Amino acid sequence: PSPQDPPYLRGLNTPQREAVLTTEGPVLVLAGAGTGKTAALTARLGHLLFTKKAWPSEILSVTFTNKAAREMKHRVGNLVGDVVEGMPWLGTFHAIGAKMLRRHAELVGLQSNFTILDTDDQLRLLKQLILAADLDEKRWPARALAGLIDGWKNKGLVPADIDAGESELYANGRGGEMYAAYQDRLKTLNACDFGDLLLHMLVILKTDRAVLADYQQRFKYIMVDEYQDTNSVQYLWLRLLAQERKNICCVGDDDQSIYSWRGAQVENILKFEKDFPGAKVIRLEQNYRSTPHILGAASGVIANNSGRLGKQLWTELDVGEKVKVLGVWDGPEEARRVGDEIETCKRAGKSLDEIAILVRAQHQTREFEDRFISIGLPYRIVGGFRFYERAEIRDALAYLRVVAQPADDLAFERIVNVPKRGLGDKAVQKVHQLARAQAIPLTTAAARILDTDELTGAARRTLGNLVGDMARWRSMAGELPHPELARIVLDESGYTAMWQAEKSAEAAGRLENLTELVRAMEEYENLGAFLEHVSLVMDNESNAEDPKVTIMTIHAAKGLEYDTVFLVGWEEGLFPSQRSLDEGGLASLEEERRLAYVAITRARRKAIIIHAANRRIYGQWTSSIPSRFVGELPDVHIESENTMSGGESLWRANWSERADPFADVARGSGRGPGWQRAAGLSPGVDPAKPGGAFTSRTFSREPSRVVEARASAVSL
Ligand code: ATP
Ligand code: MG
Repeated sequence: PSPQDPPYLRGLNTPQREAVLTTEGPVLVLAGAGTGKTAALTARLGHLLFTKKAWPSEILSVTFTNKAAREMKHRVGNLVGDVVEGMPWLGTFHAIGAKMLRRHAELVGLQSNFTILDTDDQLRLLKQLILAADLDEKRWPARALAGLIDGWKNKGLVPADIDAGESELYANGRGGEMYAAYQDRLKTLNACDFGDLLLHMLVILKTDRAVLADYQQRFKYIMVDEYQDTNSVQYLWLRLLAQERKNICCVGDDDQSIYSWRGAQVENILKFEKDFPGAKVIRLEQNYRSTPHILGAASGVIANNSGRLGKQLWTELDVGEKVKVLGVWDGPEEARRVGDEIETCKRAGKSLDEIAILVRAQHQTREFEDRFISIGLPYRIVGGFRFYERAEIRDALAYLRVVAQPADDLAFERIVNVPKRGLGDKAVQKVHQLARAQAIPLTTAAARILDTDELTGAARRTLGNLVGDMARWRSMAGELPHPELARIVLDESGYTAMWQAEKSAEAAGRLENLTELVRAMEEYENLGAFLEHVSLVMDNESNAEDPKVTIMTIHAAKGLEYDTVFLVGWEEGLFPSQRSLDEGGLASLEEERRLAYVAITRARRKAIIIHAANRRIYGQWTSSIPSRFVGELPDVHIESENTMSGGESLWRANWSERADPFADVARGSGRGPGWQRAAGLSPGVDPAKPGGAFTSRTFSREPSRVVEARASAVSL
């Protein structure tokens, strides 16, 4: 480093400078979390512009999220000024793909104003095609076909590439034919799906020499962040575009590959040197983000994975605090503790913007949101909706509102045809007309219209059923506990079944959210109080500029960093997820472990890992044991605290407070740390200690019986 260095080089270490200054030829930066890969890539962009090696429009830079693209633009803007405004090719693969495809749409039979379908549209279209093909949608769901087609597109395969083996994966060998039909249909509609944004462009680049040559000339430099998460089609794209000039710089970390479920292939890192012979491989080993304890904890966990490229990380930062591993009684206590700790941070002068809570699954956010609302702590949810704003939650709430407040027209409108009951727009219009004419609420109008002969046939029947259902639910409202009522309403209305019929990860997530909603209701005295709470929550949208705690999934946190990070729900079956334990074998367990590595390495100064001894799952208390990843944290880097151990008074207080039927089991179990026995563990086995049996037990709601529901033992 010298004093004459341009600003973007200042402070960079030697290998980082090398990554910035080696502008010609292929470069692969392979390095662990927080070593300044993104920082180097940003400086490199600044360098190319500052030294006028290329105009902004001559650089292709791929980021993983739109947010990352904005950030990079902003930082480079600070270095070189306004020219960054004209960086048309800085963005995500999808954004860049869409922009290119609009310029060449006619080459794949589209017009440049094509529409991009979302997942819902895609499914609707597939359902029509399945019907037209005389297939039974129940047996061959549209979701399954959509998943297959997405997978093929991620691999860069067009319908003609689908061989008999692949085709066999759907409807006895009709997969390829259905894929072709779908693509044809899209073309007639002048539409494409997300996968097409890349696939169509790949086809164009492969078949049209002029277009390929044009882009190969145009892009003097190509840069890719988070390279470990590129899938095949993205990889093929890059290879074509870079083949001429070969000025491509990719940065990544094999230990942070967490998107294989979306077709990402970490092998792309290994292929790089083969495709670009003579590539310069740069390793960064100094971590600038995290304290030694945090780094040590993360390295200890990831060391349990096999087949890593392997790397050493070190840091000059102060040793700092040990990673805190906190065992709490249950979910609500977890949320309470996190809230308390954040208040403490706040009093100590920390900005809320510097604090994040990372969850494994979306439904985990609810407990924190409710807690933060009640203590007035501002928060934001990144990469998803706030819990009560999710579509399935709004639908479910609309049902409950109709029951609680018959005059709630908006709620009625929302659910009248969800799930689809074959009530056409015309029928609904008639209900509206009657309501207006008589100045009565829609639900009343719906009942009254049945006394007339306005509606006939199926419409009359279905509306009659709905009106009858609503009346019955209202009469139950006084007698049943409100969570029970909610369960019944969601079941009898067919709403739960609607999502159960869709066998996809997304639908599974929605069902989890619905369960979580019912669970949330248990904390309120009655339905009215709960709905009141929800409307307050919805109204809580505070000023966007104000500092807020961030809540998000680990996946969404990739590439980001926070001063203080809470890693919650580190329990077997939650993280690693039950899915990964049940279905995936070693590969998916290792992907979960990479997620754990990503999660820990988001923290700069303070990481708090929390596991709860009990979770309520589907209305039942389930004892949970700490995640195996907790056991993999090296002792020297952690400091454990367990609010239950020896805290008999606490668990007692907890039980009596709750008046749960299950409480009898705990109380009846006599002396000693009853929570262990209640949790189905033999006394002496401390579930907070790793090495205990990896089993988890569920309890029926009858007080005297303890039922083993599943033993999710996965041997390592
Ligand atoms: P991840 O793998 O999580 O994406 P990364 O390798 O991209 O991490 P960066 O986000 O670029 O790492 O950098 C991590 C932190 O270290 C940032 O706060 C960045 O500003 C800082 N940093 C990077 N390089 C240096 C350096 N040479 N000197 C001081 N700080 C640095
Ligand atoms: Mg990065």
